[in-house]
Amino acid sequence: MLFCIAVSLAYNAVMFRNAHPEPFRLAMMSAVVLPTILAGPLFVYLLLKLRDLRILNRELQIIAAHDGLTTLLNRRAFTERAEARLEAMATGDVPGALFLIDADFFKSINDRYGHATGDRALKAIALRLKECLRPGDIIGRLGGEEFGVLLPGVDRSAAMIVAERFCDSVASIRLTSLEGKLVPLSVSVGGVLFDAQDSFHALYQAADDRLYKAKASGRNRFVLANAVLRETVAERAEI
Ligand code: GH3
Ligand code: MG
Ligand code: MG
Repeated sequence: MLFCIAVSLAYNAVMFRNAHPEPFRLAMMSAVVLPTILAGPLFVYLLLKLRDLRILNRELQIIAAHDGLTTLLNRRAFTERAEARLEAMATGDVPGALFLIDADFFKSINDRYGHATGDRALKAIALRLKECLRPGDIIGRLGGEEFGVLLPGVDRSAAMIVAERFCDSVASIRLTSLEGKLVPLSVSVGGVLFDAQDSFHALYQAADDRLYKAKASGRNRFVLANAVLRETVAERAEI
């Protein structure tokens, strides 16, 4: 706006340079008043539009980072945040655990009770898993019926307690199908403990190996490994 007034003043000063003092004064006044009247509301309008765009952009960022069904972080956002957190933790030598959690026999849940009930089951599982966490933990839906959780700052015994809680909490969900039948739900959990600088990719692979082991040894259980040595340090065998 100041620029518009300056241009307008300069223009009128040149155009009315030979005019008498009174018309010159009026020309200078109109050079200030006109741009102010015209540009003022335009400036406010543009500011409001800019604010709307900023809000819309923020909403789009939230939608792009979250899974529509469960409202958890999606795979890309979870990976980005977990990688950033791991990087920050590595500088302070903070230990932690990464878990991969997969719903058991989910294909047969869809087949037996219908896809809509399967969707409700996924929402219920996501909510239960979230309830097991503390502020600062990171959870996401990695795709399909698989979830990821990063627990910063936990040691082995705390990680075991959380893994046990994941299994028990999901198994205790009382979800009924549209026909009123109780839908049995459980998850298998593969976890990896770390206390050194390990990449997200390496931790993910180690947790995935343990998830496979938890599935192969009966499901509705967890297997926890040490990231560096890769050996199993804890598991829940019997249900
Ligand atoms: P496992 O215990 O070995 O993990 O068996 P599973 O049946 O859970 O595994 P599988 O990979 O064979 O099947 C996963 C199923 O999850 C198949 C797919 O239809 C279902 N699924 C994936 N995403 C969704 C979803 O968004 N909604 C519903 N209702 N089902 C989904
Ligand atoms: Mg599954
Ligand atoms: Mg799966």
